[in-house]
Amino acid sequence: MAHRNLSIQIKSIDASSSNDSSPTPAEEEAALEAFLAFFCRPDDRETWALKVARALAETALERLRDGKQRAEFNSANVAEMAGHTVAPEAATSWLSGIWSKLKRSLDEREPGMQDTIRQASLPYYAWPRKAASGGGAGHSSTYAMDFIRLPEVEGETAPLPPGGIAYVRDVTLRPAFWVRPLVEAGFALKGWRRYLFLGYGLGGLAFVGGLLILLWTILTTQATRLPSGEIFTLLLLAGMVAWAGYTFLRPFWRLIDLRIIMAPDALLSLRERGVQLEAAKDPSEDGQSVRIIRLVRYSGRCPICGEIVHLQDGRTEFPGRLVGRCDEHPAEHVFSFDRHTKVGKPLR
Ligand SMILES: [Zn+2]
Repeated sequence: MAHRNLSIQIKSIDASSSNDSSPTPAEEEAALEAFLAFFCRPDDRETWALKVARALAETALERLRDGKQRAEFNSANVAEMAGHTVAPEAATSWLSGIWSKLKRSLDEREPGMQDTIRQASLPYYAWPRKAASGGGAGHSSTYAMDFIRLPEVEGETAPLPPGGIAYVRDVTLRPAFWVRPLVEAGFALKGWRRYLFLGYGLGGLAFVGGLLILLWTILTTQATRLPSGEIFTLLLLAGMVAWAGYTFLRPFWRLIDLRIIMAPDALLSLRERGVQLEAAKDPSEDGQSVRIIRLVRYSGRCPICGEIVHLQDGRTEFPGRLVGRCDEHPAEHVFSFDRHTKVGKPLR
C-alpha cells in the first residue's frame, strides 16, 4: 500500500487531550472496521471523497494494529495516503474541494453509522474529522479519524430475530427543488407549519368536494338543456378532479394514519428512490414532543444474499405496511419493517 512508506512527519495526538472517557484499542478497532464496512462499501461509486475517507480509516486501523499512537495528517499526507499525486503546496486546495463533498455525505450518513454501531452494541463510532488550522502562515488544517461516543436514545435496541434484518437510516435524500426549503431539516408541525399542513389536507378535501358537488349539481339540473358533448366534458372533468384529489390528498391521510409511508414522487428529485415520508415524534426543549415530517430512507443488508434491502409499499399482499425487499430478489427476500425497533423478520 502506498501510504506504508509515509516519510512525512505526522503529529501524534496526545491521548489525554480527549475528554473524560476514551475508547479502548479494541473498541477503536471495531469502530474503524464498522466505518469501513458502512461508509466505504465496495459497491459504492469510487470517488475521491470516498478514497480519502477510506485512506484515513485504513491508516488509522493500521497504526492501531501496529500499536502506534493516533495521528493527525495534513493535506499532503492525506493526498499521498489516498494515492493522489500532487505537489505538497497544491494539496490543500485539492483536498478542501474534496472535503466539502465528503462532508456533505458524512452529514447525510451519520445517523446510519450511529444505527449500525448501536446494533453492533459498540460504544463509539469512528468518523473522519477536519481540525481547522490555528491560523497564520505555515499552519494548515489537519485530518484524522475521531471516535465519538454514541448519543443516548430512548427505548432499548431490539435483538435481531433469527434470519432477520437490521435497518439503518441511509444516505442522500434529495427533496425536489420546490419543497427543499420546507423539508430539508424536517417540517415541524407547530405554528404556521401546522396550519399549512392541516390546511393542505382539509382545504384540499373541501376544495375537491366542493368542485365535485358543483359539477354534480350542473349535471343533474341542466342535463336536459345541455348538448351531449358538454355533458361528456363535464363528466370527464369530474373524473379528473376526483383523480387529482385522490392522488394529492391520499398521502396526507395515509401519513396521519400510518406515520410512515413511501414518499410521493412529487416530493423527490428524480434520482432518489426508496424514500419514506415519516411523521416522527421529536422531543422539543420544553419537554413536550413535536411531530416532525421528514424524508428518510431505511435500508439494510439482505441476510440471505447480502444485497441491499429497500422499503416498498406492501401493496395488496401486505396492505397498509411497508416491507423490505431485496434489490436482487424482490419477490422472495421479503422482510417486515418495524420503525421503532428498526429490525425485521423474514416474511417468506
Ligand atoms: Zn436477497
